[in-house]
Amino acid sequence: MLEPSLKQKLDLGNITLDNFLEEFDRVEVERLLYTLSSLYDIGEEITSNEAPDIKSSMERLLHMTKGTIACTKAAVLIYAKYKYALQSVAVRGMDGNFYLRLDPKEISLWAEAKHPLTLDEIAEKLPAFYKTHADNLRQIGVNLLVPLIVKGNLVGCMLIGDKLNKELYKATDLILLSMIARQVSIDIYKFILMDDLKQTSDKLRKQKAELVEANMGVQKMSEISMRFISILDENKLFHAILDEMLASTSASKGVILKVDHAQDSLSVMCCKNTEPFAQRNLLPYRSYEALAKTIESGEPHICMLEEGRIWQVEARYALFVPIQNKQIGEDSYVSYILAVFDKEKRGGGYLTFNERDEAILVSFANYASILIENVRNYELATKDSMTHLYVRRFFDQRLIDQIDKSGQFNKVFSLLIMDIDHFKNVNDTWGHPVGDQVIKLVAATIQRNIRTEIDIPARYGGEEFTILMPEADSEKAMMVAERIRSAVEKTDVSHLISGRNITVSIGVAMFPAHGTQPKTLMEAADIALYRSKGAGRNRVTLSEDA
Ligand code: GH3
Ligand code: MG
Ligand code: MG
Repeated sequence: MLEPSLKQKLDLGNITLDNFLEEFDRVEVERLLYTLSSLYDIGEEITSNEAPDIKSSMERLLHMTKGTIACTKAAVLIYAKYKYALQSVAVRGMDGNFYLRLDPKEISLWAEAKHPLTLDEIAEKLPAFYKTHADNLRQIGVNLLVPLIVKGNLVGCMLIGDKLNKELYKATDLILLSMIARQVSIDIYKFILMDDLKQTSDKLRKQKAELVEANMGVQKMSEISMRFISILDENKLFHAILDEMLASTSASKGVILKVDHAQDSLSVMCCKNTEPFAQRNLLPYRSYEALAKTIESGEPHICMLEEGRIWQVEARYALFVPIQNKQIGEDSYVSYILAVFDKEKRGGGYLTFNERDEAILVSFANYASILIENVRNYELATKDSMTHLYVRRFFDQRLIDQIDKSGQFNKVFSLLIMDIDHFKNVNDTWGHPVGDQVIKLVAATIQRNIRTEIDIPARYGGEEFTILMPEADSEKAMMVAERIRSAVEKTDVSHLISGRNITVSIGVAMFPAHGTQPKTLMEAADIALYRSKGAGRNRVTLSEDA
């Protein structure tokens, strides 16, 4: 199919004026000009287009090639360097696509080929390729391969079939083909560069989006921190954590479970839209595999609940995230489970949770464990373990703060001091442990009769209590004191001490009328308390009446 004289004569990468003049007549020159202008157009198209459509450009090029050298079949293949393969982007006159694997050891040999190679030449120069693909190519009718090389690198290959009417290719055909090949090489090279560039910029854009998201995460965390760090009550904290868990994962239901390792069970700390949980104290979890795995491995789990429920709660999709307890010097263990169920789908229905939800909840769990620890420490430092009322030190500090604040804003506030009547007698008759139970009962009665968010109740000494009542004038404070006195008196203690009830004596003082310093104010209330004792106990006295 080549004119025999051509075989070794042409190095088509180096077209010389001599062989050019030797071979081209007027018709050929016209053909050359047509080819040149087409090639220019196609090259232009590839570089000017922001997202070049290499396929359609190469199809146009093949159309032009077919017209120029009158070949029946042609294809352009791009070298995919990570796959060591030539992949077709445009095919003409043949069926299907090409995917020709190359021997990695032969890649550099391909790059050395400077002119179209016949299959015979391939057999000699690229034996591995010949062995794998020659039969197939011959069968399809491909006789010439034109390696596409730029700067010594293989970028692709053209496959050329027989000339129309089985004519032999002439020198001018091959010169033109060589020119086309050079142009195609450069086009493909440009395309690869631009594609690389596009991929790099896509990657950058994606990284930027991830950064923005991570930054948003940080911002969100700091916003959450501000909101959560001020919560010093454990119950409130758990509720706030649960709300955040649901909001950040779009879950419709959730629960925070405490792990009781000794009993192999879970207890409900707080729940939302999973009310049946609230009625259960201890939940044995072994039958829920994902839950058991979460507790054992400390790894989060996304799962589908086969029966469409967990204990009595209806739920299909679940995400379990552990909170690890990490004590210095101790093995870490899972202390809580954050569980969310049934992610809400926009427009109704439920979805399973995804890795993003998991990542959000895991990072939130880390933070939640710090918050829980923080609240725990705060409780330890400020609350009395027996009564859960504040300790004296905390009360004293709050009193100083309150005097500052009320003085500054010209506001009043009150406090009371309270002592259990004839308590020694309780201890002496029923024993110290029973005395403790009585103290606890009185503390609970106090809790029930004050403003939970505002008043500061404290266990001031053994069986003495104080309450700071911000913004309450003496009248209000007297009312509260009387309410507590009466409630204590009415408390049923028959299961602890038979034949008598418990009473308290109370003294009330108001800022600034009865004192403007912590010491003077406390003394005023104390004097009023002793007036109550002196007057027969089980009564309330206001400082100014003392
Ligand atoms: P009064 O009506 O005058 O207050 O008589 P009282 O017997 O209550 O006298 P006082 O308040 O002085 O006695 C307090 C007693 O409370 C002394 C102490 O043994 C007892 N006590 C103090 N702290 C505790 C405690 O934590 N548990 C028990 N069980 N008893 C305590
Ligand atoms: Mg006392
Ligand atoms: Mg007493």
